[in-house]
Amino acid sequence: MTSIELDHVVMRYDGARAAVDDVSLEIEEGEFFVLVGPSGCGKSTLLRLLAGLERPSSGAVRMGGDDVTALEPRQRDVAMVFQNYAIYPHMTVRANLGYGLRVRGTAKRDIDARVDEVADLLGLREVLGRRPGTLSGGQLQRVAMGRAIARRPRAYLMDEPLSNLDAKLRVSMRAELEQLHRKLGVTTVYVTHDQVEAMTLGRRVAVLRGGELQQVAAPQELYARP
Ligand code: ADP
Ligand code: ADP
Repeated sequence: MTSIELDHVVMRYDGARAAVDDVSLEIEEGEFFVLVGPSGCGKSTLLRLLAGLERPSSGAVRMGGDDVTALEPRQRDVAMVFQNYAIYPHMTVRANLGYGLRVRGTAKRDIDARVDEVADLLGLREVLGRRPGTLSGGQLQRVAMGRAIARRPRAYLMDEPLSNLDAKLRVSMRAELEQLHRKLGVTTVYVTHDQVEAMTLGRRVAVLRGGELQQVAAPQELYARP
């Protein structure tokens, strides 16, 4: 778990307009924070800055007080979850869930235990031996999340993780996500272009437009604005 802080962050890809324009923001340890805005407003860029995958043109991103660009990837230790799953099709669900731990050299016995735990949490126990090609969309998304969770990172960065699912599944997965967050309490930054999703999920919601932070407030306060 960790706090995340953006301090006057500007990100310019190539001269012209800033994709992220002077954003300052503090996300508390254990918070479920939602970032909402239309396509092209800079959400993915902001997430990549948080993950340390991009270096800000100016300003600083801090995680637990440390500048992320000064941290080794292993120290940053964030897990990203995307809409396109990023699941390995040739591996079983068990192997997919354990992947992040395996590449870090975790002992097999510990990986198995952790994978079982995550499978129970996400209702994947019955499909551990199967390959992704045989799973439903909801199950695939759970595997993607499970892989992020299994590593027990300091923070989750989620980029529209539910946007490929049908409406009904999206609603039930939102509820699952909330439950999961209550259980694990890991700092989460959740990016979406879907206002309803933002209002339902976030305790605090940041609205991004044209790279600028327009407001940060509780959902009911956002509604109240003209
Ligand atoms: P989304 O809107 O879902 O964030 P995009 O389709 O805009 O995704 O972008 C997909 C990928 O293309 C991202 O990795 C992004 O960094 C890259 N990308 C987007 N716009 C540009 C651009 N103008 N030049 C180069 N890469 C871009
Ligand atoms: P969102 O995730 O909200 O759709 P992005 O962060 O993907 O927004 O994009 C914000 C702006 O930055 C857009 O104008 C996009 O074209 C531009 N952009 C994103 N990635 C790149 C890139 N790798 N190179 C150049 N421009 C990019």
